[in-house]
Amino acid sequence: MSKANLWPPREEIDWYPRINQDLCIKCGSCVEFCMHGVYSRQGDKIVVSKPYECVVGCEACKHRCPVGAISFPSREELRQMLKALREKYNNIRQ
Ligand code: SF4
Ligand code: SF4
Repeated sequence: MSKANLWPPREEIDWYPRINQDLCIKCGSCVEFCMHGVYSRQGDKIVVSKPYECVVGCEACKHRCPVGAISFPSREELRQMLKALREKYNNIRQ
């Protein structure tokens, strides 16, 4: 089995930004900043349109938001998530 097959599919890792729409002032900084195209404008809203293009563990755009509207799971939540997936895929392979 190749090494790539040992990693869970990206869609199973719930790591991506969430936007608090009550705080968002629609400045577009996150859309312009993320080179992976995770954010887009939809009508008068900024949305996370391609969540699974987000790089697991990256939080760079969060610091670009002037109003603190962007959040991610905590590092501990990420650790638990990856641990559970590793166990699941190890069990599948056995
Ligand atoms: S965390 Fe990184 S990869 Fe994910 S949306 Fe923000 S800038 Fe893009
Ligand atoms: S950077 Fe923050 S305030 Fe600006 S559009 Fe993105 S989420 Fe909204």
